[in-house]
Amino acid sequence: MSDKSLTRRDFILRVSALGAFATGSSALLAACGGGETQSGGEAAAPAEAPKTAEPMATASCDDLSGLSETERAQSEQMRQTLQYTSTSTMEGKHCSNCALFIAPEGGAACGGCRLFPGPVSPNGYCNSWAPKQG
Ligand code: SF4
Repeated sequence: MSDKSLTRRDFILRVSALGAFATGSSALLAACGGGETQSGGEAAAPAEAPKTAEPMATASCDDLSGLSETERAQSEQMRQTLQYTSTSTMEGKHCSNCALFIAPEGGAACGGCRLFPGPVSPNGYCNSWAPKQG
């Protein structure tokens, strides 16, 4: 029981310490997924609103090219540390049902994470996954 408490406490501390990323995450999301709506006219395919609770698999959510060099380095380090993957192999656990997930905006395919900058796949997963509170 104490191990689990420590882990949970560590997680909460990490979330608090990295909370500053949350502020910038919205802007970063705009850089990754919001571009489609701003460029207008020549989008390859119309953005689809999520029809079901099923997360969408999107390889483009691994593209960190919209980040600054510093943000990219932070993001890569955190992704590695948290063992982020864009395709969850954990039954019933994926970014879209994680408490730390920032939902895509404006029909974008990728969301974000409060722990690190850059796009995050709704179908992703990392070892800081925490159930979204209803
Ligand atoms: S599972 Fe990990 S990467 Fe995905 S939203 Fe939660 S904390 Fe972020």
